[in-house]
Amino acid sequence: MPTITYQGNSYECSSEQTLLDGVNSQGANLPYGCRSGLCQGCLVKAVKGIPPASAQMGIKPTLKEKGYFLSCLCKPESDLEISRPDRRDEYIPVTVSKIEQLNPSIIRLVTTSPDNFSYKPGQFVNIIRSGDGLARSYSLASVPDDGQLEFHIRLLPDGKMSGWIANELKSGDELLLSEAMGDCCYRNAYADRPLLLAGTGTGLAPLYGILRDALSFGHRREITLLHGGLSSDDLYLHTALSELAAEHDNLSYIPCVLHGEAPENGLSGSIDTLIPAQLGSGDDWAAFLCGDAAIVTAMRRNCFRHGVDENSIHSDTFG
Ligand SMILES: Cc1cc2nc3c(=O)[nH]c(=O)nc-3n(C[C@H](O)[C@H](O)[C@H](O)COP(=O)(O)OP(=O)(O)OC[C@H]3O[C@@H](n4cnc5c(N)ncnc54)[C@H](O)[C@@H]3O)c2cc1C
Repeated sequence: MPTITYQGNSYECSSEQTLLDGVNSQGANLPYGCRSGLCQGCLVKAVKGIPPASAQMGIKPTLKEKGYFLSCLCKPESDLEISRPDRRDEYIPVTVSKIEQLNPSIIRLVTTSPDNFSYKPGQFVNIIRSGDGLARSYSLASVPDDGQLEFHIRLLPDGKMSGWIANELKSGDELLLSEAMGDCCYRNAYADRPLLLAGTGTGLAPLYGILRDALSFGHRREITLLHGGLSSDDLYLHTALSELAAEHDNLSYIPCVLHGEAPENGLSGSIDTLIPAQLGSGDDWAAFLCGDAAIVTAMRRNCFRHGVDENSIHSDTFG
C-alpha cells in the first residue's frame, strides 16, 4: 500500500481510495472544495515521488511541471511526499520600486515587471501579500512599454490591503501577482470610432492605461476622458492628463467634480449626468467605464440611453 507523507506524518493509502479521503480519514486536514476536480481547492505539491497523470487534469502546465496535482483525483500508485501549495509557485513575485502619494487618499505603487508577466492595458491583477496570502484586485495603470507596473490604490478607512500598502509596504519589498485578467481593454478595431473613457477615483487607473494604449496605436477619432471626484482635491494626474491632451488634438480631458468649483476646462455635477452632452447622438461611440459599481451602472445606463451600443460598452467595477 503506498505511503503518503504530509507534514512529518505518514499515512497508508490504498489505491482504491483518493489520496484526499485516505489521509483525511486518518486525521490529516487537507483542504478541499468540490471533491470532483473542478475547484482545485485540494491542490497539493508532490515534493517526492511522481503523482499519477490523471490527478493533474486541468492544472496549469507551469504547476504540473512543479509536481502539483489534485488530491481528490489522485488514486496513489506509489509513495509520495506532499506539501500544501507554495504561493511563490502559483503567483508571480515582483519587487516594489516606488510608493508615493498622488493625492491625500490615493497611492501610486510601482513594481518591477518580470519577463514572464504579460498583460493588456486596462486589465487587473490580484495583488497577494506573501506573508499571509491576503489578496485584492487592482487595475494596471501602466502600459507594457513602461517596463514597470503601476497601480493606483485608494486608501480606505480600516482597509486591510490599502492600509498595509500605505503604512507598511516599502521599496524593495516583495509582492505576489496573479496573471492579468479582464477584458476592459482597447480594441484596434475601434481606431475609427469616437471613444468615451469615464471613471471616478481610482477608476482612472485602467482608463489611463487604455488611453495611452489607444494613443500609441494611433487612434484616429476623438477621445473624451471624463475623470470624476467629489471635489477637485480628489482628482489626480491632473497635470499629466492636461499635458497629454495638449499634445494630442484628438484628446479632450474633462475633470468633473460633484461639489465645489470645477478646475479649468472641467465640469460640475455627477459624472453620469455629464455623459450625454459629450456623446451627441451616441452613434458609433465605444465607451470604457471604470470605478465604483453604482457609478459605473449609472454611467452605463446613460451611455445606452444615448445610443451607445451595449456591445461597445466595456466596464470594470471595483465594488
Ligand atoms: C476588478 C477590480 C479592480 C480594482 N481595481 C482597483 C484599483 O485600481 N484601485 C483601487 O484602489 N481599488 C481597486 N479595486 C478595489 C480593491 O480590490 C479593494 O477592494 C480595495 O482596495 C479595498 O481593499 P482593502 O483591503 O483596503 O479594504 P477592506 O479591508 O476589504 O475593506 C475596508 C472597508 O472598505 C469597504 N470597501 C471595500 N472595497 C471598497 C470599495 N471599492 N469602495 C468603497 N468601500 C470599499 C469595505 O466594505 C470595508 O468597510 C478593484 C476591485 C476590483 C474587483
